[in-house]
Amino acid sequence: MGLSRVLRHVLVCLIAVALTMMLTGAARNKTPNLLRNGDFKKPLTKTKEIVGWHTRLTSITPVPQYTDPENKKGRTGVTHFRCGCGYNWGTVRPWTMLFCPQCKHMNMGLEDSGSQYRKNHESVSLIKLGRDRSLGLDLSKAVGENQGVRVISNLVRAQRGAGYEISFDAVSYGPKLRVFVECFRIEKDDEKAQQWVKSLPRKSNPLKLKTRLERVFRKQVHPGSPGQWQRFSEKFAAPKRYEFDYMFVTLYAYMPGKAQYDNVVLRRLSQRELLEYRREKGEPKDKRLR
Ligand SMILES: [Zn+2]
Repeated sequence: MGLSRVLRHVLVCLIAVALTMMLTGAARNKTPNLLRNGDFKKPLTKTKEIVGWHTRLTSITPVPQYTDPENKKGRTGVTHFRCGCGYNWGTVRPWTMLFCPQCKHMNMGLEDSGSQYRKNHESVSLIKLGRDRSLGLDLSKAVGENQGVRVISNLVRAQRGAGYEISFDAVSYGPKLRVFVECFRIEKDDEKAQQWVKSLPRKSNPLKLKTRLERVFRKQVHPGSPGQWQRFSEKFAAPKRYEFDYMFVTLYAYMPGKAQYDNVVLRRLSQRELLEYRREKGEPKDKRLR
């Protein structure tokens, strides 16, 4: 009796040790965050920008050329791309992460929203609570009911065929929240764009992009309006035909009021996690069938 009790005790201890090792192992296996300053701990830069993120945004308005501009008749097939500030980029559509030479704002390279986000940064701040900081959004009625507010992460290199997980904490006192991971592919065949991008001032292309980035895939998370801090997490992997080379995260809010985001993590899935994800989604293993 005495011996079996000792044995049982030893067994329980061994199981406990094994479990602890498995758990810490799992934590260690978690792939690193690909986002810089996802916890918003760093103070604002000298130019009042959030480290690792972009809030000074702009977009373009395509302006078609006419042989008869007064009556807007006779399209020549040439289009000029005008920044929200009025600057004319020329006849090549600028893409994401290019900065306007005139207003210095980052061209989002998403839908054509012209000047709608020119004052975007005015609705964004860092909120300090003790030692901790989080991202604060404060949407006026006009902003909330129209374009909303966006905070865009740095560009992150992606690997074709890999899977990813986006997770974050969020709370809302009115606005509706959405988080996007916008995914882009290097467009190798656009020679006109490759020539054009060389002509830009250096400050307009800090990442030294050599060719067009085309959005091919987008992951959306819909937190709604969580009334208290809540963590959200979703995995994604692009089907073969939408595989991408780069991505960025957009933290978005619309409808008036205040909201906060914190601890944003974008990480690559381990091989095992990707297989599990594909199995759960019921996707065929054969790549040709995806
Ligand atoms: Zn501009």
